[in-house]
Amino acid sequence: FTNAIIGALVALSIIALVLSLVKIEDVTLPPTVKYGMVFDAGSSHTSLFVYEWDSDKENNTGVVSQTLSCDIQGQGISSYANDPPKAGDSLRECLDKALKVVPAAKQRDVPAYLGATAGMRLLREQNSSAADQVLAEVAKTMREYPMAFKGARILTGEEEGAYGWITINYLLDSFTKYSPKAHTWVHPEAASIFGALDLGGASTQISFMPQGSMINWNEASKFTLYGYNYNIYTHSYLCYGQHEMLKRLAKELIVESPSSTRVDHPCYPKDYNETVSLSSFCTSPCTNQSDPRLPLGDRNVTLEGRGNASRCLAALKKLFNFSACGQSQECTFDGIYQPLVRGQFIAFSAFYYNFKFLNLTEGQSLATVRETIEQFCRRSWEDLSSSYPQENPERLPKYCANANYILTLLLDAYKFNETSWKNIFFQMKVGSKPVCGQEKSQLPTFGCCESHGPESPACPTL
Ligand code: AMP
Repeated sequence: FTNAIIGALVALSIIALVLSLVKIEDVTLPPTVKYGMVFDAGSSHTSLFVYEWDSDKENNTGVVSQTLSCDIQGQGISSYANDPPKAGDSLRECLDKALKVVPAAKQRDVPAYLGATAGMRLLREQNSSAADQVLAEVAKTMREYPMAFKGARILTGEEEGAYGWITINYLLDSFTKYSPKAHTWVHPEAASIFGALDLGGASTQISFMPQGSMINWNEASKFTLYGYNYNIYTHSYLCYGQHEMLKRLAKELIVESPSSTRVDHPCYPKDYNETVSLSSFCTSPCTNQSDPRLPLGDRNVTLEGRGNASRCLAALKKLFNFSACGQSQECTFDGIYQPLVRGQFIAFSAFYYNFKFLNLTEGQSLATVRETIEQFCRRSWEDLSSSYPQENPERLPKYCANANYILTLLLDAYKFNETSWKNIFFQMKVGSKPVCGQEKSQLPTFGCCESHGPESPACPTL
């Protein structure tokens, strides 16, 4: 019995010794690199992002960098509603690329997600079993790869808004700032956190930290990031993405002259014609409500461009129910509550693409923006197509409509004004941390990047 006890004690002390060695080894070895991957499945296209971070940060909000971004060929996954296996196949090219950037020994530990946004939200409304099949097929393909599949699902609009807000503030280092005086990382003031404005094809999101308390908010999101709590207001408007907006506008214009086969389109360039079939309005829940003003049966209608910015703005305003807000300033349209906008905003995605094309991302005043858009809208299709031979011919005729839509959304719905307009920065949502040097000149403060460059000093202790 005594021998047994001595044996057990010896065994325990050997285990303790081994454990202490392991512990020492754990502490002295540099942290290993971990990877994660996310498919961002938008309404018009899907991209894959592979990220890496140090393993010692993984229980907290860590510092992440992007190793790969890969654009999937073709349309968004919702466009495969009639052939769901093709949605799965469309992911393969980028998954194969991901296998090349993640070391083979680590591939099994890479968590892999797919988050789908408004295109799939619309498909779910229209045909929920088709949406389920598309998700099942993308999940099936992802499972065929060695990575650890964690899920493929449709994000809510509020999740999409909140993730956009986190991403831009993360990229701009708003959550942490280095104080050269104190030689330490400090928590920045709320005023230096950016709001996020995201315009997609099927929906648009606004997210920001308003003044005051959260009373009244239905759309509050709470997070803990780097040990601090954030309460943000976020709202997503389904059917208010630019593609769905253009469809709704076309339907409204047709409905106003129901018996005509040729209808004026104030936002398309002069000499530009687009033929639409009435049945095309049935493919989206944003336009498929039956309208007694619309003639029954399918037929084609030709939309004839008139290139008139003020008539275009007036037609776009009719897509919003502003009267439901009465006199309230804390209301966008349809009676939807929104606290007054506050602080600086980054407007990305299609806000950026359209304004970049029109050279309006350099902090121009609202008056200059209006003037530039008006001038652009006056240009004929012949002039535009010969002046921009490189531009995608599907996009070129739509910049006038999109730009006027952006003005309506920002000014009439969100209630930015001449003064707060200066606080909107039209920026590409870059997918990697070091935004330094990338069009940063017009941005006010860049935290870590501005004063120290992307690599130095070491990021905050988390
Ligand atoms: P989503 O796919 O929902 O994220 O929406 C992105 C929107 O931006 C779609 O309406 C696209 O047509 C539009 N878009 C994407 N890339 C460009 C670009 N380079 N120029 C203009 N519009 C773009």
